[in-house]
Amino acid sequence: MTTVVTPLKRLADAHGRVARDLRMSLTDRCNLRCTYCMPADGLAWLPTPEVLTDEEIVRLVGVAVELLGVRKIRFTGGEPLLRRGLAGIIAGAAALRTDEGVPPELSLTTNGIGLDHRVSELAAAGLTRVNISLDSLDRQRYATLARRDRLDEVLDGLAAADAAGLRPVKVNAVIMRGVNEADVVPLAEFCLQRGYRLRFIEQMPIGPQHGWDRASMVPADEILELLGGHFALSPTAGRGSAPAEEWLVAEGDCHPSGTVGVIASVTAPFCAACDRTRLTADGQVRTCLFSLTETDLRTPLRAGATDEELADLWTGAHESKWAGHSIGRAGFRQPDRTMSAIGG
Ligand code: SAM
Ligand code: SF4
Repeated sequence: MTTVVTPLKRLADAHGRVARDLRMSLTDRCNLRCTYCMPADGLAWLPTPEVLTDEEIVRLVGVAVELLGVRKIRFTGGEPLLRRGLAGIIAGAAALRTDEGVPPELSLTTNGIGLDHRVSELAAAGLTRVNISLDSLDRQRYATLARRDRLDEVLDGLAAADAAGLRPVKVNAVIMRGVNEADVVPLAEFCLQRGYRLRFIEQMPIGPQHGWDRASMVPADEILELLGGHFALSPTAGRGSAPAEEWLVAEGDCHPSGTVGVIASVTAPFCAACDRTRLTADGQVRTCLFSLTETDLRTPLRAGATDEELADLWTGAHESKWAGHSIGRAGFRQPDRTMSAIGG
């Protein structure tokens, strides 16, 4: 018989939302330089002493799951595969039990490079799913976008995740005007043929040098128009707290039926249903990707705070979570940290 433990506290806010999904960043470093995410020369990386150790990460994840009702953890970065202790962190998280008496759902958002060499170890540690970022199937365009010629390694990582049974394999793609619109249909075909779940993500103003502009972002409507010209699409039922607006794709000549998602974070924000909390690699709680404030857990953790005290700080941060971001409206301010330094 499983014992169901009631969480002592919840990450509830004043807008009726409860966070149960943790985005845990493991590093701000990366081996790619995607143009929408990082400057060509990279960023000033966090000094190593400021980055949480493997043990500190497992402890804070434990507070989230066992005291605060978190049920899903997505490890991200920067590039989480650069973290040497990744399998140990996953194993530590897999040993936890949620308020429903089961291990938390553990997934990884990665660029896929090197995943083929590590996927068995990560699956054995308790990883259940992966989201792999792939913005182009054209070698030249991939190299231009990621500023590194590494498409083959990403494709090897994808195939390895599928072979290891980390299904459904999800693929994330960002489409930029004048850069990779030509990839929308080929990416969808590629994913449908292999049973991968593709999600297009609208480019958000959280990249390098505050260089985002609305005109070069390709909105969800336009992506759907490109898809609709090639596939027979029909909408699925309501999306709940999941950010992807999913569409059913009917079987075609060269692909079986499947789904494709479009995450319209800019043109159709899903803030009202947000169930996320975030912890940066240096131990700062962010209640929203676009937050302008953070709550420091690393300093109290290192000063000897108890799990209860850390949980109180975390719930306190969520009590003042704002109703939503204001991208595109007067007063919007881009946070100082970029997506890679927060954990996307
Ligand atoms: N390095 C890993 C990867 O690329 O999957 C994990 C971190 S990355 C920051 C997580 C996701 O954020 C990726 O799917 C990436 O495409 C997305 N991303 C980064 N910058 C973005 C931006 N400005 N707008 C929308 N998505 C972005
Ligand atoms: Fe690295 Fe991911 Fe950012 Fe690309 S999107 S630069 S892979 S962190």
